Amino acid sequence: HRQLPKPPHTRYLTISNQKGGVGKTTTTVNVAAALAAAGLNVLVVDIDPQGNASTALGVEHHADVDSIYDVLINDMPLADVVAPCPDLDHLVVAPATIHLAGAEIELVSMVAREQRLRRALDQYAKHREASGLPRLDYVFIDCPPSLGLLTVNAFVAAREVLIPIQCEYYALEGLSQLLKNIEMIQKHLNADLVVSTILLTMYDGRTNLAAQVAAEVREHFPNQVLQAIIPRSVRISEAPSYQQTVITYDPNSTGALSYLEAAAELAERG
Ligand code: ADP
Ligand code: MG
Repeated sequence: HRQLPKPPHTRYLTISNQKGGVGKTTTTVNVAAALAAAGLNVLVVDIDPQGNASTALGVEHHADVDSIYDVLINDMPLADVVAPCPDLDHLVVAPATIHLAGAEIELVSMVAREQRLRRALDQYAKHREASGLPRLDYVFIDCPPSLGLLTVNAFVAAREVLIPIQCEYYALEGLSQLLKNIEMIQKHLNADLVVSTILLTMYDGRTNLAAQVAAEVREHFPNQVLQAIIPRSVRISEAPSYQQTVITYDPNSTGALSYLEAAAELAERG
């Protein structure tokens, strides 16, 4: 594996796009795995009630597991719910359980309802320092496909937004709504938030349409779009059914190599 720079401070990224099925979870787990495989210390926070990131990273998330739900709603320390990814030494995961489905509603009436994830992450960073654990290099938050309070918590906790864009006809539709929401967050809740990174996913090199969409996205966001493009790949889509990322499942596949490349670019751009 190629040597990747350690960031000067922990980078907090939320992987967001209010569309479902665009590759948010796949991007979260595979970029996180690629960075961890390079020896960087990574935390993945799963805040999608479906728990797909927890599944792909091989971490238990049945209803009885202490999870990010308990952190957000019951003030449980993040340190008490974080579990190691069995396949990667430098990767830990805060799992999501089905209870999280009710959290959107429960959060509405809570004090500091938008800040709860940020506070938990700050407290966890202090806990790691006090326990002599290495500082985290990256925190990735995998969002549900909605713009509710869970996603708002992610926007407040993060400093960077990573938007995966599927190279299909409707790719740019809905993006303006996402950007408007991010502007609202910047104005009212988190002035430090920036859309730092856009990743083109599920690219089908055989179609003109995919190339056109990619070109159009690059034209709109010349400074955000990574050079690396994630192709459509069967290996990427079958890895989760083995509770793995493609990085560990088939490290030499084109899917794995493309995610390793994207992660390296993310790290090197700083
Ligand atoms: P989201 O989290 O945005 O809902 P997912 O990451 O779960 O999206 O991806 C949606 C579906 O597409 C999943 O079944 C996933 O395995 C599949 N998928 C994601 N990326 C790729 C890819 N590059 N090639 C093939 N299938 C992919
Ligand atoms: Mg998902």
